[in-house]
Amino acid sequence: MLGVIDRQLRSRSYKLAFEAELEDRFEADTRVKRIRDIRRTIILGMVVFHIYNLTGFVTTPDLALLNVGLRIFGMTPIALLIIWAVGRVGGPVREAIGGIGMLAATGIPILIFWLGSGPLISLTTATIWLSVLFANITLPLRFFWACLVSGITAVAVMAGLYVKPEIAASVGGVLGLDMVTGILFSLVATYRIESANRRDYLVNLRETLRAQRLAADNTTLAHLSTTDPLTGIANRRAFSRELEEFWEAGLSGRHFAVMLIDVDHFKPFNDHYGHGAGDTCLREVSGILAKTGAGSGAFVCRYGGEEFAVLTHARDPDEAYAMAERFRRSVMERGLFHGNRGDGIDFVSVSIGVATSFSTATTAAGLVEAADMALYEAKGDGRNRTCRSDRIGSGESGFLDRATITHWSVAEKRPIARAS
Ligand code: GH3
Ligand code: MG
Ligand code: MG
Repeated sequence: MLGVIDRQLRSRSYKLAFEAELEDRFEADTRVKRIRDIRRTIILGMVVFHIYNLTGFVTTPDLALLNVGLRIFGMTPIALLIIWAVGRVGGPVREAIGGIGMLAATGIPILIFWLGSGPLISLTTATIWLSVLFANITLPLRFFWACLVSGITAVAVMAGLYVKPEIAASVGGVLGLDMVTGILFSLVATYRIESANRRDYLVNLRETLRAQRLAADNTTLAHLSTTDPLTGIANRRAFSRELEEFWEAGLSGRHFAVMLIDVDHFKPFNDHYGHGAGDTCLREVSGILAKTGAGSGAFVCRYGGEEFAVLTHARDPDEAYAMAERFRRSVMERGLFHGNRGDGIDFVSVSIGVATSFSTATTAAGLVEAADMALYEAKGDGRNRTCRSDRIGSGESGFLDRATITHWSVAEKRPIARAS
């Protein structure tokens, strides 16, 4: 759409129409205002139109009643019908209704001019072309309809001026020239108004679309900058931001836990099955962790490499430990086959270090460091276990017997028989 708008703005064409798609949008976007403008302008026009009931008594007294009758019983219902109809039809029909309505409105003084006689008859020509000015500038009609109404009016009045015996040729010539000049000036104005309206619309639409695109780009960028491309879960940048928030909440008494989760013996997995299978394994582990944390308000992210982190509110360290154990078990119970560990275990497991805001850490970074030390302890204690920072050295672990495991081969993407 932006391309079409740019092309249209650069175009030197004098045509008052856009390419089809843009024209449809222009109509859709401006329709309500246009209908409102037409209705309001017709009401204004009708007020003035009826003032001219009186002028008829001066210029054409013998036709004054006909004039009043046509204006009140002819034009008023037509105007009301137009006000009703313009909101119920499509753009082109709406503009045609406006044009035909203006033909009817100018038709009444033209008729009086043609039928009338007497010394002041020529004065009625002013009434006629004032109607045309109303149509071309105040309403204004679309340019095509303005030209049509203007053309028909000009021909009808010029002919009348020519054939009416009471109007001297010289006077008729001057009046005709005045009218044609006035109409031409107003047509220039009609063209400029419509052209400027269309141009303003294009410029506004271009700015709106650009702003929308920018906002969408920003949303995408914000998402990309906080998402890990391999696993699709939050990344370390998001972790830092989230940690700040958890820490703030912790200061006002809402305690929380930091878990650092590291895949055990992942280098041998990579070495044995290849980097691609390693990536798949990381995606699997991240999916399991995200699923385990889902619905609990826990924040799960990839911390880097084969490490993940979890932030979650916890009422006390025991609850934090229990939650960490749920994460560890969820990975183990998936039974991703790992035949190259060299420690007698044949499935992918994680070790977890957990520290809570109940600890002595005085900064958020200090708390992460405490979790890291607990993770180091869990690794040292034999892996596939959770160690809490307030129990470092106790040898506590959540090891689960591998007899409960059904294996899944990451490399072969299928369940496999247990290796031992
Ligand atoms: P430990 O049980 O002590 O954690 O041993 P480990 O082998 O898991 O740890 P180590 O730090 O020796 O190896 C981590 C490996 O993770 C090394 C690196 O190649 C691999 N790794 C890190 N990021 C990625 C990744 O995005 N994709 C793949 N496939 N491997 C990764
Ligand atoms: Mg590591
Ligand atoms: Mg590791």
